[in-house]
Amino acid sequence: MKKEQTQTISCFMVPEHLLEGSGLEQEDALYFHVTDGCVLATKSQMTAMDTVTLVESLSRITVGLLTRLVNATDPCDQCFPNCWERDEPVTIPSRVLMEAGIPSDAKLDAKVSDNDGILVSQAPYRYDLHDVSEDLQLILAESGACLMQLDELLAGEAMIIDFDVDDLCGERAT
Ligand SMILES: [Zn+2]
Repeated sequence: MKKEQTQTISCFMVPEHLLEGSGLEQEDALYFHVTDGCVLATKSQMTAMDTVTLVESLSRITVGLLTRLVNATDPCDQCFPNCWERDEPVTIPSRVLMEAGIPSDAKLDAKVSDNDGILVSQAPYRYDLHDVSEDLQLILAESGACLMQLDELLAGEAMIIDFDVDDLCGERAT
């Protein structure tokens, strides 16, 4: 996970309609928290109450996103740890990967070959459940998600959220 960077942009003007309901004003100096897949604009100075409000807002967003993940799978009442039998990821020395032309960060598949050896090859996907922290796996499993199905969604890079951006663009044009 990328470390969060922060940045203040004093000349950046957020459209007024986007600030509606946020408690932020166009003249506020905004602080930008930049992290994986997210740019979050907050007040650059916050009271304890402002901070509590922000924590609660982020919690609601987090719960909403977790709910999307849970709802993307069918209910599974015996998922953790039974549904998802976690094999250790296959690891091969980087010099051998390099000789085989396989990127060092690629996922690997292993299977028994015809002559009783083990054949290791690059997996045809970039992500799987090993990319999800054990803490988050536990939260998702306890919330009713099927981790085996989540593994398939990750490998297939399935789109599970589609915010209605077109409506927002229409709103901005008016
Ligand atoms: Zn399951």
